[in-house]
Amino acid sequence: MYSYNKLLKDKVAIVTGSTRGLGKGMAVALAEAGADVVITGRTEEALNEVSQEVREKGVEAFPVKLDVTDPVSIQNMVDKVVDKFSRIDILVNNAGTIVRKPAVEVTLEEWERVINTILRGAFLCSQKVAKVMIEKKIKGKIINIGSETSRFGISGIIAYVAAKGGIAQLTRGLALEWAEYNICVNCIAPGYFKTAQTMPLFSDEEWVKWVRKRIPMGREGNADKDLNGTVVFLSSDASDYITGQIIFVDGGLSSSLF
Ligand code: NDP
Repeated sequence: MYSYNKLLKDKVAIVTGSTRGLGKGMAVALAEAGADVVITGRTEEALNEVSQEVREKGVEAFPVKLDVTDPVSIQNMVDKVVDKFSRIDILVNNAGTIVRKPAVEVTLEEWERVINTILRGAFLCSQKVAKVMIEKKIKGKIINIGSETSRFGISGIIAYVAAKGGIAQLTRGLALEWAEYNICVNCIAPGYFKTAQTMPLFSDEEWVKWVRKRIPMGREGNADKDLNGTVVFLSSDASDYITGQIIFVDGGLSSSLF
């Protein structure tokens, strides 16, 4: 167990989609590092449960219902956070969804749901939050959650691949635009972690054996642990001169051709 020594004390962080999985893990990590954390998602019960866990770290947790596919919901969330804390220092664009089927069978509704959740959602949250950071002259940190598909193709999940590829470019484009305001925009690209999103994969034993062989470190990521250091670092003053970067946290998977 390592300690971040309250690196993020007095900072306010929003994590989209923090009701479970990687978002929850990162929300708790930011809280352990001393940040007050805004817990968001569409499931009210889970919002309250995760908020309770965050409060146990000795910081404030603020549960706010959010649907990132709805621009009005995003603006309401940002307004509530500003009303409560008068500042936003960190935004983690984590909310995501996936549709697993051949490209020729993907419906327009499925395509739009995935793109609007991952890519349009991350853009609109970043836009609304950056406006607050710029107006209040806050040195901000925006962290987009990408994927191996921010660099590589994977078949059978075309809308997701397109959305996560877009996340890499959104990261670079916004980093350039907002550098003059001291807002750093970076991307964490996780490898394979066992969560609700990847349950269809991890419930197939043959696939698990195959993927563990493919990952140089021989194991999948742990949602409660393996993104913690990177998200805290990119949220902290220790990364003030890093912007526009995609950091793969994947046990070496993206460095391996076979
Ligand atoms: P989960 O399905 O476990 O969690 C997804 C989270 O996003 C939930 O908290 C969910 O909350 C929230 N969410 C989904 N849709 C919306 C929406 N419209 N508005 C607001 N919140 C929403 O997935 P993971 O934890 O695995 O994934 C988190 C992120 O990490 C995603 O962007 C995913 O693509 C990415 N990722 C995951 C990997 C993995 O191996 N698991 C690998 C690489 C990237 P609720 O349902 O309450 O709204």
